[in-house]
Order: sequence, then structure tokens, then C-alpha cells
Amino acid sequence: MEDRLSQKEVRRLMKISGNVKGSVILADIDYVKIKGGEGAVKKLKKRMKEIRIKFELEKVKPMEMYPEAISVIIVLLAKEILGLDEKGVFDMGKAAVKLSFFIKILTRYFISPKRCFEESPRYWAKHFDFGELEAVEFDEIEKYAVIRIRGYKFHPIMCQYHRGYFLQIAQLVLGKKEISVEETKCVFRNDAYHEYVISWK
Ligand SMILES: [Zn+2]
Repeated sequence: MEDRLSQKEVRRLMKISGNVKGSVILADIDYVKIKGGEGAVKKLKKRMKEIRIKFELEKVKPMEMYPEAISVIIVLLAKEILGLDEKGVFDMGKAAVKLSFFIKILTRYFISPKRCFEESPRYWAKHFDFGELEAVEFDEIEKYAVIRIRGYKFHPIMCQYHRGYFLQIAQLVLGKKEISVEETKCVFRNDAYHEYVISWK
């Protein structure tokens, strides 16, 4: 029970501004449905009501913008309802890529992994109206890439979620099985940004 999202935490999150595209939220609702069935989606709706979030899950449109706070709350509730551990949240981030129709289209246009890497800041800007993704380094010889997220601070759960997300995108564009993503810097550890190092073999 200690993992239950509190009203206080909901209030804190809802004060943080910034919006995200509905497609991201839809992927998370899909994940809840796939993992826990209709029952889990019902629970999600019930919990949203309990924490007094007025948000109709069935009315989310992929191209419309919604508060990122709601998106984070949905991930936190999914963790609570599905009983996800850290690895589970990581897998949820990975699944968000697989469940996104737009990513499949986008990755088809990316000719090379390097090009995809260079395009990633624009990709972020298409999904979020705040924060920034910085493509820092791409080393094809040493086989690693570094990206940073600036201006994004909601909840540490999203660090795991994004780690999974980046891993799945890397898998799509690199077509390799042995990829790892480590978060080497984090705003929740007093760094100025979140930094992820993607490496592959
Ligand atoms: Zn972080």
C-alpha cells in the first residue's frame, strides 16, 4: 500500500507545466490494457477519479497536447495497478515505442543510425512543448552515443521509463540485440540534466 500515489504527490505533479502529445498517453493506456486487461484499465479510471484528476482516457487524441503531469501520473498508476518494479517500468518505456504508430513511420525515414541520432532533438520537440533533448555524441567506432534531457523534472520513475524508451529506439535503428542504456547523470541526483549513454556491440 505504501506505493499508492498520494493526493499530495498528485498536487505537486500537477503544478509542473509542460505538455505532451496524446500518442504517448495512448501508448501507456494500451500497455495497461495489454498487461492487465480491461480490468486494469477500469482500475486506472477509478484511481484517476479517486485522486481527483478530471481526464477522460477514451477521449485522448494522438495529435492533441495534454499535460505531461497527467502522463506521469498514468505511468505511476500503471506501476501501482500492475505491480511493476524498476524493470517493469523500463519495459513499459520500451513498449511505448513498439505501440507508437508514429515511431514506426519515423524510423522508416531515418537512413542511418547517425541521422536518427541527429534528428532526435526534433523528435522530442514534436512530442513535447517544453524541455529539450540534446544529441551530444555519436561514436560509430567506439559504438556509443550520448544524449541529454534538459528541463524535465517530474518524477524519477520517468528516468527508468525513458531509459527503456531509448533502448527500444536504439534497437529499431541499430538493428542490434546487444544494446545497453545507462543513465549516467540525473537531475534527481543534483546534476543539471539527465544523461543517457547508449552502447552497443
Ligand atoms: Zn533522471
